[in-house]
Amino acid sequence: MLAAACVSGLVLVGCWREPIVLRRQVSTEAAGTRRRARVAYAPMPEHLVDGLRRFKRDVFPAYAEHYRRLVAEGQQPTTLFLGCADSRVVPDLLTNTAPGELFVLRNVGNLVPPFEPEQSYHGVAAGIEFGVAVLRVKDLVVCGHSHCGAVRALYSPATIAANAATPHIDRWLDLARPAQIPGPSSPESLRRTEQRSIVLQLERLLTYPIVRERVESGELCLHGWYYLIEDGSVLALDAGTGRFEPLGH
Ligand SMILES: [Zn+2]
Repeated sequence: MLAAACVSGLVLVGCWREPIVLRRQVSTEAAGTRRRARVAYAPMPEHLVDGLRRFKRDVFPAYAEHYRRLVAEGQQPTTLFLGCADSRVVPDLLTNTAPGELFVLRNVGNLVPPFEPEQSYHGVAAGIEFGVAVLRVKDLVVCGHSHCGAVRALYSPATIAANAATPHIDRWLDLARPAQIPGPSSPESLRRTEQRSIVLQLERLLTYPIVRERVESGELCLHGWYYLIEDGSVLALDAGTGRFEPLGH
């Protein structure tokens, strides 16, 4: 039986019978008294457990054969979907795709770091390379969206930069900064920045040798999408005009 314990935001996962627990003692100095934080096992969020039960009982049976085939034959997604981590962007729901169809990468702001061949921990780059070089996807979609918090943060840098708890966010947003429009934000400038950032990320994808190679050989197509959360529609970048036009309606 799995259990989770929360210690000042640190989540520990263990098994009651054979504990596999990341143990960390948290000590604090408070009012001259050294205190040891107590580990209190907490129940799993009940709505998530309910969701797991409903998936197993009501959803999985309809996909059982499909999943068995995906396990036997391996995944063969044809599209790499690079979207924002925003909880309102749900790639499979948006595209009405089945398990195994989309290889999904999501991060804050649907951003693409430049190709950097030095040895480091590049999760987004690894995902791009895996999708393009190993899975050999035919299409790569960079999907931005309306009301993106990452883009909004570009216009209030002090909020992010001054927060000692978020040292990585300000640096990460550098990847979108060239899309920023001078002046204060407005609904129109935010929308334009969200769309300009999509184009910027597509351009940066071409710094990856494997992406450029596959695009030039015609084996890979890049696409820019802009998802309007409020009405469920998607605009697609027209490479000819540089405009985002309605798609699929
Ligand atoms: Zn976003």
